[in-house]
Amino acid sequence: MARKSEKALSRKKFAIKLSEDLLAPWMKKCLNIPTLPQSTRTIIRELVKLDLNIQPPKQSDSKKRKNCTFCQYNLRRMTRNFYQTCSRAMCGEHHV
Ligand SMILES: [Zn+2]
Repeated sequence: MARKSEKALSRKKFAIKLSEDLLAPWMKKCLNIPTLPQSTRTIIRELVKLDLNIQPPKQSDSKKRKNCTFCQYNLRRMTRNFYQTCSRAMCGEHHV
């Protein structure tokens, strides 16, 4: 039963997240309207900023395969290993 409620919660979170993602570009557009009331403008700014805080940009990129940054370019060795401290791609040969 616990699993079921967990799933429902994540789905609800997803729905909220999705609506925020869909609204964010629209809200940014609204900021360009000169006749927009100052109070609405402030609310939108806060919402957009909040949305940015919840989702750090390009987080999914780190999970993709990339060329090893330490190999010669002509080798183009693909890797899923990433150096933690500088987040650079690394093949098995260079990964310590
Ligand atoms: Zn390498």
